[in-house]
Amino acid sequence: MNILILGSGGREHALAWAVMQNPKCDKLIVAPGNAGIAAIATCADLDILNGAAVIAFAEEHAIDFIIVGPEAPLAAGVADDLRNAGFSVFGPSKEAARLEASKSFTKEICDAANAPTAGYGHFTDAEAAKAHIRANGAPIVVKADGLAAGKGVIVAMDEQTALDAIDDMFGGEFGAAGAEVVIEEFMEGEEASYFILVDGETCLPIGTAQDHKRVGEGDTGLNTGGMGAYSPAPVLSDEIAQLAMDQIIRPTMKAMADRGSPYQGVLYAGLMIKDGQPRLVEYNVRFGDPECQVLMMRLGAQALDLMQACAEGRLAEATVNWADDHALTVVMAANGYPGAYKKGTVINGLNSLPETAHEMCFHAGTAARDGQIVATGGRVLNVTARGATLREAADRAYAMVDQIDWPEGFCRRDIGWRAL
Ligand code: ATP
Repeated sequence: MNILILGSGGREHALAWAVMQNPKCDKLIVAPGNAGIAAIATCADLDILNGAAVIAFAEEHAIDFIIVGPEAPLAAGVADDLRNAGFSVFGPSKEAARLEASKSFTKEICDAANAPTAGYGHFTDAEAAKAHIRANGAPIVVKADGLAAGKGVIVAMDEQTALDAIDDMFGGEFGAAGAEVVIEEFMEGEEASYFILVDGETCLPIGTAQDHKRVGEGDTGLNTGGMGAYSPAPVLSDEIAQLAMDQIIRPTMKAMADRGSPYQGVLYAGLMIKDGQPRLVEYNVRFGDPECQVLMMRLGAQALDLMQACAEGRLAEATVNWADDHALTVVMAANGYPGAYKKGTVINGLNSLPETAHEMCFHAGTAARDGQIVATGGRVLNVTARGATLREAADRAYAMVDQIDWPEGFCRRDIGWRAL
């Protein structure tokens, strides 16, 4: 089978690594890919937001199956274009991708499904939004409705911060994404991520994880795209996962199907857990990055079979074979991230790292230049390991981190602390 993966991050390197282990895979192309992916698959330059260009490429390379990694091509309808052209595609339609692309849409679906989530108001007018904030007081959460790369959410601990956020959003700070805002009740608790494959009807859980959003140890400092993750997340116990499935996931997926836009792909539910009760924080319509890295490490080759079963509506017959183990990934980022950072710095020591079924360094922002690997982004490497215990996985991952010679990079040394 010839497979095409769209994307270029650590998530796509992990997807490629899992897919390559499956004997069904004859040829793998990742577009656009990165330097780490180039070591295990073919990388191709392609505008992945352009449906017509992706279709032409897939036809030219006799592609049998396409996996869409990031949200932007999904929100642009590239999965629909490919399906309409007759391709088998893993990833939701543009309409279903609104679960990530529009926060007010997700809230409406939660209302329709009676799913536990934060109370909210939806506003297209600054004065009405401010009146809502004054009436409810702080803490309160202000969100730009559209995609804002994780930056459009202000968790305001005082009223003035929330009011200022309204001025910023309606003042155009987030462009079109901020032309509408959702204001939410502040939820307390511990967050965890739940990943579920959905084929329009059947929902099959494929794992839990916990991310580390803040740049600093002990979850301090600025928000980032994620500094590390581990799976499973003990806070999402079997009982709480079952509640999430029964009260949130299945009812909202049914609401999508009832509207005529059944969901197909991986659903990433961000949950807030308090007193044994999960509530929905957000849906994403793709694997998390870096959560995908730990999920792929635990799933291995079967990930391809599962994604195919999902795309072909066969999840009712599918099962997940779990190794009873743990995986952990440490993100190495360029000094200065999430603020300004240097590009083009050289990373040494990658060649001597182990590459086994339980140890892999997935690349995110890297490129090969003159025989060397250089950093080209903020988040650059995802050093990932499995172990019989989370401690063993962490020790293996940090042993690899210590072999990497990159003075211009840093990582958090406490990934997994909540569970450890
Ligand atoms: P990302 O996709 O990067 O996680 P996003 O822009 O889609 O971010 P959300 O996930 O909705 O935004 O919110 C980002 C973070 O803000 C959450 O992970 C959570 O920590 C916090 N947050 C969001 N909504 C609430 C809420 N109602 N109560 C408390 N915290 C919240």
